[in-house]
Amino acid sequence: MGIEEKLPAGILLTSVEKLVNWSRKSSVWGATFGLACCAIEMMAAGGPHYDMGRWGMEVFRASPRQADLMIVAGRVSQKMAPVLRQIYDQMAEPRWVLSMGVCASSGGMFNNYAIVQGVDHVVPVDMYLPGCPPRPEMLIDAVLKLREKIGHEPLGPNGRKMLEARQARGDVP
Ligand code: SF4
Repeated sequence: MGIEEKLPAGILLTSVEKLVNWSRKSSVWGATFGLACCAIEMMAAGGPHYDMGRWGMEVFRASPRQADLMIVAGRVSQKMAPVLRQIYDQMAEPRWVLSMGVCASSGGMFNNYAIVQGVDHVVPVDMYLPGCPPRPEMLIDAVLKLREKIGHEPLGPNGRKMLEARQARGDVP
C-alpha cells in the first residue's frame, strides 16, 4: 500500500521543487522591451482582448530587476545587441528568454550586416516562436509551453542543464 493510501484524505503531498516551480510559472513577469513590429502583437497579447493576465503575467515591468521573462519581439540590430545583453544581465535569476518572430530567431528577411542573425548569439534562448509576426494567440501558446518547461526545471544553478538532460531522456516533455 502506498503512503497516499495510508494517509487520511485531504493531505496534499508535494516536493519543494514542485511548489517553487508552481510559484515561478504562475507569475512570469515580462520585461517591457519591444524592438520592432512583433512588439505590437506582444502588446496586443497583454491587452484586454487576449488578456495574458489570465496566467498571472499581465504585469510587464519597466525595471529588468523585477522581470523574469525577456520577450525579444523583433529584429535585433548590432547596435542594440549590447543593450539587450545588459538588460538580460540585470534580470535576476531565474530568468527566461523567448525569441518572438523569425527576425529575432534568425535575422529573418534582414540577412545583412546591420542585424544580428539570431538573438541566441547574444543571450541564451529558452523558446523560439516562428512567424512574421506571430499572432497574440501564438505568443500565448509559446508562453504556456515555456510555463510547462519552467514547471519541470530542477532547482539550483544547473537546473537548466538537468532539464535538458531529462528532456533528452524523454522523462519530461
Ligand atoms: Fe517585423 Fe516580421 Fe520581423 Fe516581427 S518577424 S519584427 S513582424 S518583420
